[in-house]
Amino acid sequence: MEAVPPCALFSLLRFTTVKAVSRGPAAIAADARRSVRFRPSGFQTAPSRRTFVKYDAVVVGASIAGLSTATHLAGAGWSIIVIDRRREIGIPVRCGEATGNRAELSRFVTIDESWIACDISGLVAHVNDSFSRKLPIRDGGVMLRRDRFEQSLAQSASAKGAHVLLNTPVTGLFIKNNHPAGVTLENGNIIEASFIVGADGAESSVGRWAGITRPLLLTEIASALQYRLKSNFCNDGFLHFFIGGSVIPHGYAWVFPKGNGMVSIGGGIYRCSPEQPSAKHFVDRFIKKHLGAEPPLETLVSGAIPVTLPPRRLSKENIVLVGDAGRQSNPLTAGGIMNALEAAESASRWLINCRNANGASVPDSYSAGWRRNQRRQHNLFMLLREIWFSIPESKLIPYLKTAFSLAGNDLDRSKPFKMPLLRFVEFMFIVFPLAIKRILILFK
Ligand SMILES: Cc1cc2nc3c(=O)[nH]c(=O)nc-3n(C[C@H](O)[C@H](O)[C@H](O)COP(=O)(O)OP(=O)(O)OC[C@H]3O[C@@H](n4cnc5c(N)ncnc54)[C@H](O)[C@@H]3O)c2cc1C
Repeated sequence: MEAVPPCALFSLLRFTTVKAVSRGPAAIAADARRSVRFRPSGFQTAPSRRTFVKYDAVVVGASIAGLSTATHLAGAGWSIIVIDRRREIGIPVRCGEATGNRAELSRFVTIDESWIACDISGLVAHVNDSFSRKLPIRDGGVMLRRDRFEQSLAQSASAKGAHVLLNTPVTGLFIKNNHPAGVTLENGNIIEASFIVGADGAESSVGRWAGITRPLLLTEIASALQYRLKSNFCNDGFLHFFIGGSVIPHGYAWVFPKGNGMVSIGGGIYRCSPEQPSAKHFVDRFIKKHLGAEPPLETLVSGAIPVTLPPRRLSKENIVLVGDAGRQSNPLTAGGIMNALEAAESASRWLINCRNANGASVPDSYSAGWRRNQRRQHNLFMLLREIWFSIPESKLIPYLKTAFSLAGNDLDRSKPFKMPLLRFVEFMFIVFPLAIKRILILFK
């Protein structure tokens, strides 16, 4: 194969396009106009077939985890390419878009009001239409406009010099001298890189190719879907969660505010089994019951979220996994936005140390740090989920009342939380016998 010097390639890149290497410039330009509505300024199209391009790191997946890793690394002076099979950054939005508060987000990104849909006022838990309890939360979090959020991450990565390549599936690792040395693309091209970042989501291929993860079992994912529609139903700035067998078994339905009279209505099922109806069945039933409407099919998006423990090692040789690829989403709530931002930051810190060590071996502080901090929380959330699923339907309401009483009448997430001792003891009396049966989860 022929190697092209990177500088020559960069000028060539501007005039070629993905999957269209054999087509004329007019067709290529038309393709690009049609397919890529969002192109960050550093956007590059694919190099011509069977060429090598050498980067410091190739990032597979241009979503939250991948784009933020790219921003950190490009900011440290690395040459970076981020590759995604999607045609547009941030689209489709496969997400309820509820996330941490402004202070938490600003640890990782500069807040921009254009990607915030509205602030979250708190949460309401509903059980089987027979109980609901409202918990106002000061500084509870924000609802993102996730497409704009990802586009803004792409702009930042791009402004720091990262190249973003869309509409290009990555098909495998490129192995040289028995070591991973980059990735291969569907169009036959090869991107060489010193480091490979797998930020390719729940079904991560990079993780499997590298032997870090195995395919997820049905019991290890939450299968979720959502509609976005205009409605005043539960559109009060609170996140509404609906649980109980008559709504959705082993999961929850949600109604989240989107601002401007819009809501997202969705649902997720944990422990999916081929025998049971899909999440769609329950969400459609929910919408019909509460809105008396046929679900608006054109706004449907669905996806899978890993709700299992991350692997003990999130890296192998020069390959590292971040975000859903590393199974870092919360196994209780299935939320993964903040986790992806956090993972991207700590993975980047470790990668920068590796490169600064000039080939000397560097202990994997990324995996170790994740095991020390977030993995413990993960185990705890897994335990809580198992407790939730083991509570008999008839006892859900009293248990939930006790759990809510821990929080008092409202929560303030901008301040450290002080647990009321007496209520905590009462809570433990209920939870302890349920937890003790599943205590091994904490030591996995
Ligand atoms: C319906 C639904 C609702 C959700 N709601 C919330 C919520 O309200 N709050 C919250 O915090 N989390 C939520 N989540 C979870 C959250 O969306 C994920 O945790 C988050 O997107 C993880 O980000 P990521 O960057 O790791 O992966 P992803 O966002 O999954 O991105 C992976 C990227 O990799 C690309 N890719 C994959 N394979 C390849 C390949 N071979 N070649 C090239 N590109 C590839 C994909 O196209 C994609 O762009 C929800 C998830 C779903 C499905």
